[in-house]
Amino acid sequence: MKTALITGVTGQDGAYLSRLLIEKGYKVIGTVRSYRCFKQFNFEYLNIQNNVTIEELDLTDMANVIRLIMKYKPDEIYNLAAQSSVGLSYEQPIGTFSFNTVSVNNLLETIRLYCPTVRFYQASSGEMYGNVKNLPVTLDTPMHPVSPYGISKMAAFFMVTTYRESYGIHASNGVLFNHESFLRSDNFFVKKVIKESLLIKKGLRKCLKLGNIDIKRDFGYAPIYVKAMWKMLQMDSPDDYIISSGESVSLRSIVEYVFSKLGLDKNLILTDEKLFRPNEIIDIYGDNTKARKKLRWSHNYKFYDVLDILIDEEIKYYNKVN
Ligand code: NDP
Repeated sequence: MKTALITGVTGQDGAYLSRLLIEKGYKVIGTVRSYRCFKQFNFEYLNIQNNVTIEELDLTDMANVIRLIMKYKPDEIYNLAAQSSVGLSYEQPIGTFSFNTVSVNNLLETIRLYCPTVRFYQASSGEMYGNVKNLPVTLDTPMHPVSPYGISKMAAFFMVTTYRESYGIHASNGVLFNHESFLRSDNFFVKKVIKESLLIKKGLRKCLKLGNIDIKRDFGYAPIYVKAMWKMLQMDSPDDYIISSGESVSLRSIVEYVFSKLGLDKNLILTDEKLFRPNEIIDIYGDNTKARKKLRWSHNYKFYDVLDILIDEEIKYYNKVN
């Protein structure tokens, strides 16, 4: 039985990846920053709460990282923990940069010193590329991040490639573009739009206030994206891969789709400049050819199909709890 250690296990991807690895027969160890603020919801929703061993871990404390890794001697480590909100990273630039880089360095250094055969996955992001001149983004596209989050992920990305090239560690970067699910936190665009639109439908909200919706992003479906993480660590050689849907859709078209599916009046969609970010990527989408060819990974969803799944799941959950 293989052992996998997942940091950031309480997040969207942590939960779906745990479920995938449990199905594959792994022993799954998940780390949380503190037992006190341990959020069980995602595990209970996927009914895996009894199958993941939870451990407290301060990823900024290398001694703590060493002790935990030596305790379980995992075969694979999936590093998903991060301050993952682009918007929040403008409010907390130092905290974001510091956590998102130091945590990665502590893990890599522990692997280098104590368990060099461990396979390591780093949750990198399309946000590292920022406003690019040529689309789609490939791994050769020059990085020009436009947020503290993007900068932190870029630094971590290169820390991974440096440890791989310098010490031969099996460390891979999954450069994932936006991926959504019912388990996405409420502060992310698609989840916010679906959840709040449903509240409008139920008469519990008057309108939907959003930031800049005249931008485009590459969106996919999270349960399919976590499969790529696992596939990367099964390869003989470590490498970097772009995991994306391969096309972008405008945020405006997403809101309008949700509104029309719920039969809501589009005049209730309001934009508020106070919610605009200081800097914004206008359009971005990634080229997933390498992942399709080498990993045999595929994502055969149009984003409107994903939206249908998410809207139905949100309605089902709303009806269950109300
Ligand atoms: P979530 O925000 O849902 O989960 C992030 C996880 O990191 C949570 O478990 C959170 O714990 C943990 N975390 C945050 N800050 C800290 C901290 N200071 N100490 C310890 N743990 C911390 O993100 P996703 O699951 O969506 O994403 C997983 C990873 O993939 C992240 O690294 C993200 O940046 C990256 N990524 C995600 C994309 C996406 O579209 N979802 C796209 C590209 C990259 P807690 O519950 O305690 O807050």
